[in-house]
Amino acid sequence: MAIPAYRSPEDPGLWEAFLERLEKTLRVAAIHPTTVEYLAHPKRLVTVSLPVVMDDGKVRVFQGYRVVHDIARGPAKGGVRIHPKVTLGQTAGLAAWMTLKAAVYDLPFGGAAGGIAADPRLLSRRELERLVRRYTAELVNLIGPDIDILGPDLGTDQQVMAWIMDTYSMTVGSTVPGVVTGKPHALGGSEGRDDAAGLGVALVLKELARRRGLSLEGARVAVQGFGQVGGSFALHAQGMGLKVVAVSTARGAMYQEEGLEVAEVLRHYEATGELPRYDLAPEELFALDVDYLVLAALEGALNGDTAKAVRAQVVLEAANFGLTPEGEAYLLGKGVLVVPDLLTGGGGLLASYLEWVQDLNMFFWSEEEVRQSFAKSVAKAVAEVCDRAEFLSTDLRTGAMALALERVNEATRLRGVYP
Ligand code: GLU
Repeated sequence: MAIPAYRSPEDPGLWEAFLERLEKTLRVAAIHPTTVEYLAHPKRLVTVSLPVVMDDGKVRVFQGYRVVHDIARGPAKGGVRIHPKVTLGQTAGLAAWMTLKAAVYDLPFGGAAGGIAADPRLLSRRELERLVRRYTAELVNLIGPDIDILGPDLGTDQQVMAWIMDTYSMTVGSTVPGVVTGKPHALGGSEGRDDAAGLGVALVLKELARRRGLSLEGARVAVQGFGQVGGSFALHAQGMGLKVVAVSTARGAMYQEEGLEVAEVLRHYEATGELPRYDLAPEELFALDVDYLVLAALEGALNGDTAKAVRAQVVLEAANFGLTPEGEAYLLGKGVLVVPDLLTGGGGLLASYLEWVQDLNMFFWSEEEVRQSFAKSVAKAVAEVCDRAEFLSTDLRTGAMALALERVNEATRLRGVYP
C-alpha cells in the first residue's frame, strides 16, 4: 500500500486483504486522502486476557479482541467470533469490512469486530458462559448502544448474546438491550433475526436475477457451509424455486443430482450435527456443474488454486472474505459474476440494525413489518451497488467498495478532524 497504514503484528491476512481492496478501489473512486488515512488505521484495537475457572477448578486464560475500525457514520457495530483461529489482525480486517458493509446498506453504523480465541465445542456451557461474561466485563467501558454494539458471528448463538446483554446490564446498573443484537426474543431480540443472514443472500440473488436477467426457476445451486447462513439460505433458495443440489460442512458434501430436500437435511443436521451422507470431499463441491455457487463458510474458501475448479457462472460470497483477491481475479478473468460479501452478506447486519432500532425505542414490530423493511433495504442495496458498478464500468465488488467509501468519505469530510 502506497499510503502509510497500520500494520497488524500477527496474522495480518484479512487486514492486508482489506488494504489491498481499498487501494484497488481508490483507482476508480475519488476518496479524500484524509478519509484514506482514517480507514488505513483502525480507531481502536483492544486485546484482553480472559481468565476463566474451568469445570475442573483450574484457571485458563484466553485472549479476546475488539477492534473499532471507524465511526464516521455512527456507533461501531460488529459481531463477536469465538473460534480457535481468532487473532487481532483477523479481527481488524473484519472490523474494516463492517465499516464498509454498513455503508453499502446505508445503515448509520461504523464498523467493529470482536472475538475470542477459543474452540466453543471444547468448552462446557458453563465454561463458555464464564468466558463470554468475562469478555463483556473487560470491555464494559468501551461498548454500549451508542458506542459499540456487539452481535453474532461464528461460534455464537442467542444465548451468548443474552449473556453479553445481562453482563453489561448488571455492570452498568440498568437493563440495556441495545448493547448487543441477535438476542432471544424475550430480551428484545427482533422477529426475523434468526434466518436473516441466509434470507439476505436469497433476496440479493432474487434482486440481482431481476436486474441482470438471470433465471432462478429450476436453476442448480451448491452451498458451501451449512451453518446459520448456508442452512437458511438453502431453505429460502428452495422456496424460490432453485434446486439445491449440494451442501457441505468442513467434513464433506452431500450431493443429489435432482436436488436435496433441504428441510429434511436441516432437521438431521440440527439433531446430529452431521449431514445425512457425505458423497464428496468438501472442496469437490466447488467443481460441481451448477449455475450458482454460494460461499457460506470461512474466509479464503476460493483462492488462486481452489477457484480454478469452479464451473458456476455466478458466485455469491456470503462469508466475509470468502474469496481471496487471487481467487477473485481468476474468476473475473473467466467472466464469472462475483457477488461480493459486502452486498451478499449484509442480511445479518441489516437485521441487527432493525433490532437495535426497536431496542432503542422499546417498541417492537411484527414479523411482517420486519420482513418488509428488510426486503426493501436489500433491494435498495442491490440496485445501488449495480448502479455504481455500471456507472464505473467495473465489477460488483469494486462498485460496492466505491459506494461504501464515498459514503464514509462524505461523513468524514462533514465531521472534520477533531480537535
Ligand atoms: N457478523 C455479522 C457480519 O459479519 C453481523 C454482525 C452484527 O450483526 O453485528 O455481517
